[in-house]
Amino acid sequence: MANILVYALHYDGAINKNSLGAVSEGARLAEQLGGEAHAILLGENVPQDLAASLGKYGAKKALVAEGPEGLAQPLVDAMAAAISGGDYKYALFGGGLLGFEIGAGLAARLGAGVVMEVTNVRAENGELIAERPILGDSSISEVKYRSEVGIVIGRLNAFEIKDVGGADAQVEALSFELSPHASQATMITRGEQRGADVDIEGADILVAGGRGLGKAEGFQLAEELAAAFGTSAAVAATRAVVDAGWYPYAAQIGQTGKTVAPKLYLAAGISGAIQHKVGMQASENIVAINKDANAPIFEFSDLGIVGDLNKILPKLTEAVKAKKAS
Ligand SMILES: Cc1cc2nc3c(=O)[nH]c(=O)nc-3n(C[C@H](O)[C@H](O)[C@H](O)COP(=O)(O)OP(=O)(O)OC[C@H]3O[C@@H](n4cnc5c(N)ncnc54)[C@H](O)[C@@H]3O)c2cc1C
Repeated sequence: MANILVYALHYDGAINKNSLGAVSEGARLAEQLGGEAHAILLGENVPQDLAASLGKYGAKKALVAEGPEGLAQPLVDAMAAAISGGDYKYALFGGGLLGFEIGAGLAARLGAGVVMEVTNVRAENGELIAERPILGDSSISEVKYRSEVGIVIGRLNAFEIKDVGGADAQVEALSFELSPHASQATMITRGEQRGADVDIEGADILVAGGRGLGKAEGFQLAEELAAAFGTSAAVAATRAVVDAGWYPYAAQIGQTGKTVAPKLYLAAGISGAIQHKVGMQASENIVAINKDANAPIFEFSDLGIVGDLNKILPKLTEAVKAKKAS
C-alpha cells in the first residue's frame, strides 16, 4: 500500500498551519494512491487529543513519539524508524527550515530521493510526481522518484489546509532509538525574530512595505495600518528594505524570504520583482499602491492604486479605524 507519512510540527498545544496544509495534501494524495496518510508528532507528552485532531484534515493515524520537539535529528531517527517498521512509500513535509533539515537528513539516512520547494504534487499511475519551480520560478520541473521511499518537501504554505471533517486519527505510540548524535543539540529557546508580535506566515492581512516607503521610519505608516486592522494583521517587507536595514529580516517575503498566502496582501511602494512575487502570489487578494502606473506589481494585483503612499496609507488607516469603530 502506498501510505504517506506526514510530519506535523506542533508548538504550545497547536499544530503549525503549514503542517496542517501538509497533512491535508498527504490525505488527498494518499487517497489517489489507494493508501492512507499518517501524521507523526514528536515531543514531550504530546496531548493525545492534539494528535487525534489531525483526523479532521484526513490523517487516518497519528504516530506519537517521545523526544525533543523542534530539532531535526531526533525527527530523522523517529521518521526513519516509522518508515522501516511501516508501509510508507512517501514522506511529506510542509516546508520551512525544519522541514528542509529533517527531509534532507531522512533522505540521507534512507538513501531516498528528495525534492524540495515543491509547489504541486500529483498522483499518476500509482506514483507521485512532484512539481518544483526552477530558474527563478520561470519554469516548472517535474520529478518522479526512483527510490523505494520518496521525500516531498513543500514550499512554505504551498499546500492548502482542508478541514475534511474526518474522524479522530487513531493515535499510536511510536518507539524509536535516539542516535548518539541526535542528542548533541538541545533546544534552549524557541521563537522567531520578528518586527512585531504577529506571526507573518499565519497573518490574515499583511501590509508589506518596499523601498517606496523612503526610509526606515516610513514603516511606521505600514505598522499603523496593520495595527488598525487588528491582531490578524502584520507587517512584511521586500528584500531591498531588509538589506537596507529598514526592517527585520524575519519580515522578508520572497524567493530568499518567506512564502505567504494571506487573505489580503497590501503592497505599498513595492515594484513587484519576480523574486518578491514568488513569495506572495498565492495571496487571496493583492492590493498594490505605487506611484508608477507601469510598476510590474500591477500586472498581478487584484486592485491597483496609482498614487503616493504617503497620502494613501494614512487615509486607509483612518478609514479602517472608522469602519472598526462603527
Ligand atoms: C537572487 C535574488 C534573490 C532575491 N530575493 C528577494 C526576495 O526574497 N524578496 C524580495 O522582495 N526581493 C528579492 N530580491 C530583490 C528583488 O529583485 C528586488 O530588488 C526587490 O524586491 C525590490 O524591492 P522594492 O520593491 O522594495 O524596491 P524597488 O524595486 O526599488 O521598488 C520601489 C517601488 O516603490 C515605488 N514608489 C516609490 N516612492 C513611492 C511613493 N511615494 N508612493 C508609492 N510608490 C512609490 C516605485 O515606483 C517602485 O515601484 C532578490 C534578488 C535576487 C537577485
